Amino acid sequence: MDEFKCSNCATCCKNIRGFLTEKQKKELRKYSFGALPMVSLIPVERIAFPLWDFEAKKLIKDATEKGIEHKIRPSRAIFDLDSNQAIIVSYSIDSDFCTFMKGNQCQSYEKRGFVCKMFPFQHGPFLKLEEFAINEMFAGCPSMANILDNLEKFDKKKLTMQLKEKFGDSFLSVLQSDLITQWINNMILTLVKEKKIRPAMNYPYDLLLKRIDNSKKIDFMDFLVEIKEMTKEDKDNLIHCFETNHHAKEKVKDDLS
Ligand code: SF4
Ligand code: SF4
Repeated sequence: MDEFKCSNCATCCKNIRGFLTEKQKKELRKYSFGALPMVSLIPVERIAFPLWDFEAKKLIKDATEKGIEHKIRPSRAIFDLDSNQAIIVSYSIDSDFCTFMKGNQCQSYEKRGFVCKMFPFQHGPFLKLEEFAINEMFAGCPSMANILDNLEKFDKKKLTMQLKEKFGDSFLSVLQSDLITQWINNMILTLVKEKKIRPAMNYPYDLLLKRIDNSKKIDFMDFLVEIKEMTKEDKDNLIHCFETNHHAKEKVKDDLS
C-alpha cells in the first residue's frame, strides 16, 4: 500500500467549511443548540474547522503580531448560571477559507491547530473505531486515492499499525485530538456532577445566545484554573502534553503491545 504523501495543494486550507456530512449536521442540529451543556454559537451551515481555546489563543496572538485579519470567533460555549459567564470551549475561523493562508502557504505553520496537523484525517478513528467508519475518517484530500481502499476494515490492531505507518504524525495528531475531545467531555460531566458549574440547558436558543453575548467570557482552560480545578502550572503542562501528542503516543504503545 502506498504511503500518504501530502502534495501541498492546500485544498484542506481553502475549504474550512462544508466538511460535515448530512448525518453529522443532523446530529449537531439535534444536540448542539441548547439540549446539552455545550452550545453551538454559530449555525450548522457556518461551522468551520474547530480550534481548542488554547490553540485559538496562540493563533490570535500570532495573527495580531503579523497583522493577519484572523476572523477567529468563539464557536462553542457553556453558559454557567452560577458564575453568570460564558465558558468558551472552542473557536473557529469565520470564513470559507483559512485566513492564515497566503498563496498556498500557511503564515502560522508553527502555531497551527490539531485540525491542521491531523489532515488528511477529519475525524479520529478511535472515537468511532467500533463502527470502523473508515470513509468518514478522511476529508476530501486528493492524495488519499490509493490508500483508502486498502485500509484494514475489521482488525483494530492491524488498522492502528497501518495508520501509524502510513500517516505518521498526522495519525498521532488525530488520535491526540480524539483524546482531548474525550478529556474535555469527561471534565464537563465531572464539573456538572460535582456542581462546579450549572449549565443553561433547554433554554430558548435565541435567549441563550443573547445571555452569552452580554456575559463575561472565559476560556475553558482558564476557567479550570479560576475554580482551582488545576493550577496554572498544571494547565501549561497539560497543554504541552497535548501539543507533543504525549497521550496519543502512550495509547498507540498500549494498543500495539
Ligand atoms: S493534506 Fe491533502 S488536501 Fe491538504 S495540502 Fe496535503 S494533499 Fe492537499
Ligand atoms: S492554519 Fe495554516 S495549516 Fe491550518 S488551515 Fe490555516 S493555512 Fe492551513
